[in-house]
Amino acid sequence: MIYDLTIIGGGPAGVGAGVYAVRKRLKTLFITKDWDAQSSVSESIENWIGTVKISGTNLAKSLENHLRAYAGDSVEIHTGEICTEISKKSESPLIFSIKTSKASGETLEYEAKSVLITTGSSRRKLDVKGADIFEHKGLTYCASCDGPLFANMDVAVIGGGNAAFESTSQLSAYCKTVYILNRGDKFRADEVTVNRVSEKSNVKIIKNALPEEVKGDKFVSGLIYKDSVSGESKEIPLSGIFVEIGAIPATSFASKLLEMDQTGHVMVDPKNQRTKTLGIWSAGDCTDGLYHQNNIAVGDGVKALEDIYLFLHAGK
Ligand SMILES: Cc1cc2nc3c(=O)[nH]c(=O)nc-3n(C[C@H](O)[C@H](O)[C@H](O)COP(=O)(O)OP(=O)(O)OC[C@H]3O[C@@H](n4cnc5c(N)ncnc54)[C@H](O)[C@@H]3O)c2cc1C
Repeated sequence: MIYDLTIIGGGPAGVGAGVYAVRKRLKTLFITKDWDAQSSVSESIENWIGTVKISGTNLAKSLENHLRAYAGDSVEIHTGEICTEISKKSESPLIFSIKTSKASGETLEYEAKSVLITTGSSRRKLDVKGADIFEHKGLTYCASCDGPLFANMDVAVIGGGNAAFESTSQLSAYCKTVYILNRGDKFRADEVTVNRVSEKSNVKIIKNALPEEVKGDKFVSGLIYKDSVSGESKEIPLSGIFVEIGAIPATSFASKLLEMDQTGHVMVDPKNQRTKTLGIWSAGDCTDGLYHQNNIAVGDGVKALEDIYLFLHAGK
C-alpha cells in the first residue's frame, strides 16, 4: 500500500505530528527506533507547558500513550525499526521509498506520498577524563533544564558558539560566577551576543582553554584545562559544568535527498517546516531551527502536519 505520510522519529516532534495526523485522518506510517526522546534522561522537567514537573521517562511514556490512545486505523505504529534510507521512487505521482531495518537484521521497505523527518539529535559529548563519570552529577548538556539547580554556585560553560553564550546568559541570572571556556581566541557566536554576555559582572571568559579533566568525588568539584598558548594546566573549582559543543543530528539516512547545514541539520522553512525537497518536511531538533526544546519540537511537528495536509488535499 502507499501511505499518505510516513513520520520517522518518536520524540515530541513526531508524536505531535502523529496526534494531528489522526485528527486529519491521514493514512500514516509512524516509524521509530524507540520512544526515548532526548530529555528522557532528565529526572525532572519543569518547563513542559501545562505540567508543573515530570520526569523525562514519564514524559516520553505519556507522549507514546497519547499517540497510541488515538492512533486507531489512521496511524500505524512501528517501534524498533530504524530508517536507513529515503529515496524518490517516482516523480509523478510523487512517491517516496522508505527503507528500515530491525535489530534482528530484517530489512523492510515502504512507500508514501509524503515524509516527515523528526529524528532529533544527540549532544556532542565532552571527550575528556571524568566527563562520562560525572554526567548528571554536575556535568550536564542542558542549561535551561538543569541550570536552576546551580543557583549561587560557580559553574563553567564549555563552548564558544551562540548556544554556549545563550546558556551563559541564562546561568548568569542566578549562578555566582559563570566561566566560559573557549578552545581558541575567537568565538563562533555572534559579536553582539558575545558583547552582551561578556558585559555581565559575574561572567568570566577564558580563551585558548582545552578541557583536560573533570574532577570530583560524588559530584563535580572542578575542571582542569590546558592553556594552549602557555601550555600550562590550570584548575578551576566548580560545582557545575555545562557542555555546549554542538549536537549531532540523526539525519544521515536522508543526506542524498535533502539540503542540510554543515553539521547535518535539515534546512527548513520555519513558516511550515518544508524542506527544499518537495514532499518532505522536517521538525524538531534535527532541523536548523535556532531553538530546540520539547515544546518547540511539538509545535514544529504540528505545524508541519497542517502543511502536509494542505499539500496532500489541496495540492498546495
Ligand atoms: C539532557 C537533555 C535534557 C533536556 N531537557 C529538556 C527540558 O527540560 N525541557 C525541554 O523543553 N527540552 C529539554 N531538552 C531538549 C529536548 O529533549 C529536545 O528539544 C526534544 O527532545 C526534541 O524532540 P525531537 O522530537 O525533535 O527529537 P528527539 O527527542 O531526539 O526524538 C527523536 C526520536 O527519533 C528516533 N530516531 C532517531 N533516529 C531514527 C531513525 N533513523 N529511525 C527511526 N527513529 C529514529 C529516536 O529513537 C527518538 O525517538 C533536553 C535535551 C537534553 C539532551
